[in-house]
Amino acid sequence: MRLIEKLAALQTIDTKLDGYRKRYAEIQAALKTPEALTQAQKAMNEAEANLEHWRKERKSRETAVSDQVRRIKSQEQQLYGGKIKDPREQIALQKNVESLKRHLDTLEEGVLEAILELETAEATFATAGEQLSRIQAEWAQNEADLLAEKSKIIAEARKLKARRAQLTAQIPAASLQRYERLRKSKLGVAVARLHGNSCSGCGATLPTAIRQQLYGDTLVICPICNRLLSA
Ligand SMILES: [Zn+2]
Repeated sequence: MRLIEKLAALQTIDTKLDGYRKRYAEIQAALKTPEALTQAQKAMNEAEANLEHWRKERKSRETAVSDQVRRIKSQEQQLYGGKIKDPREQIALQKNVESLKRHLDTLEEGVLEAILELETAEATFATAGEQLSRIQAEWAQNEADLLAEKSKIIAEARKLKARRAQLTAQIPAASLQRYERLRKSKLGVAVARLHGNSCSGCGATLPTAIRQQLYGDTLVICPICNRLLSA
């Protein structure tokens, strides 16, 4: 293998490795928990808290109603028990019972409201749960795909790096340094191929005589972009 062929092979490996590095970074970014999942989880937590709130509220409002019914019953027992003889006292008690009953109506309305709110909260909770499950399932698949691709990239890159090491061991240090410098200054492409008469690095059309030089022992550079040229 001539020097330029080794450098061209090195370029092929490095271009692939560059592609893997780019894709690896994209995968790492894509592996962050998606906003939709965070939002769905948040909605689910809120729906659960709201459901819990209305369950407790319903219970406490029902207790308030039973307490009020008990209170009314006890006052009515006094009223109709025949123990109170004073008419003014009877009227006062009667009024008190009426007032307690009016408040009972309000308390019962409160229970009804809590029941309706609870139904809504249950429906919202169910919907939020379904949505979360759906998004979780989608993400699980997506995440699995990304992780599989990531493993594949790591394995491929490891193989390429091993081949790269074998190759660089056969290239003189000065040529390798020249190659690395060119890679840095030429957007990662140090060795360009000659396609027909054009340089694949810059697209310039070069004199036909240049092709002949590519098979000699000295390295040929593109006069336009200064990249190393290979057949
Ligand atoms: Zn060129």
